[in-house]
Amino acid sequence: MTSGKRRALWKGRDRCLDDETTTHRRRRHHCRHQQDNNADTKAKKTKSEGKNYSLMTFDEVPEYMKDNEFIRKYYRGEWPLKQVLFSLFQWHNETLNIWTHLLGFALFLGLIVVNLVHVPQVVDLFGIFRSFPKGAEMNVSHDSKSLLMGTTKLLNLKSINHPGYNYVPMEMAAARWPFYIFLSGSVFCLLSSSLCHLFSCHSYNLSMQLLRMDYVGISVMIITSFFPPIYYIFQCEPHWQIIYLSGITLMGTFTVVTLYSPTLSSGKYRGFRAILFTSMGLFGLIPAVHTSIMNWDNPKRNMILAYELFMALFYLAGTGFYVTRIPERFKPGWFDIAGHSHQIFHVFVIMGALAHYGAALIFLDYRDIVGCDSSL
Ligand SMILES: [Zn+2]
Repeated sequence: MTSGKRRALWKGRDRCLDDETTTHRRRRHHCRHQQDNNADTKAKKTKSEGKNYSLMTFDEVPEYMKDNEFIRKYYRGEWPLKQVLFSLFQWHNETLNIWTHLLGFALFLGLIVVNLVHVPQVVDLFGIFRSFPKGAEMNVSHDSKSLLMGTTKLLNLKSINHPGYNYVPMEMAAARWPFYIFLSGSVFCLLSSSLCHLFSCHSYNLSMQLLRMDYVGISVMIITSFFPPIYYIFQCEPHWQIIYLSGITLMGTFTVVTLYSPTLSSGKYRGFRAILFTSMGLFGLIPAVHTSIMNWDNPKRNMILAYELFMALFYLAGTGFYVTRIPERFKPGWFDIAGHSHQIFHVFVIMGALAHYGAALIFLDYRDIVGCDSSL
């Protein structure tokens, strides 16, 4: 090696340049050797870090992450919390699961804020439902159109104008808390679901905690969904309010306690969990049948039932996808990033909650007008 080449080799190695001027060749050799070692270590570290934060296949992830064997790739495997947080903005097999419920969370939080801040406008907003066709001849397809129109209008309060409608003074209005209980339950469920999907890949312990929080969130959403209909339907018969609301709260508590068992949180018991949640939802049939029999001739019944029918259909369809894992079971690996059953389930949950929100507005509107003079 020429002295020129040697100089070029050492160029840039600041820490050792001083040694170049000394006569201690051993020391210079040691320095170069140490640099090579450092470079090797650094390279290995970078490689290992890269490997740690790269996405994994189903076969590579730890056992507790193997929830759906039809989703083959794009798993995050036990990443540090910081990387997990940043993965919110990366593509992997949980990205759309996180965002579907995160946007739903923002939507329902927005509905709470809008209802709290713009009370007069929101009361005025109820006029849009009054403009819907009423009567026993109203059919479901018409209701679905109205529901969609109503939902669209709800998101754009300024576009609503009902000059002829005099809103009910707040001192005469029905209690708002059951309405906000439902909205808060939905917000809690959607947020806990998003957090669960985002952070569960970090570690086994965190995953178990978040899964339980997710189940608690679903139970809370189901329980709180019962508050507006039962409270407003049976406003003038408080004993029925107490019976039905205590019943659903007890069922929800039982579900949460049961699901806190680590075994029942596993993928193997997916069907059992679906049965528990569906039973809670079907509990709603009892007060629904009760009120339908008691007030069969009331025209409001059709509109409310249409909304609640849509809610039930959305939830049942969502649960169907959740349990059967369609479509990914037909083409494993094809729907890893987008289109798999859990994402479809999430979208149906939001649509079901929005349909129920529409029904809750009618309940509230009706009680504002008639108080206890008439039953629903
Ligand atoms: Zn989910």
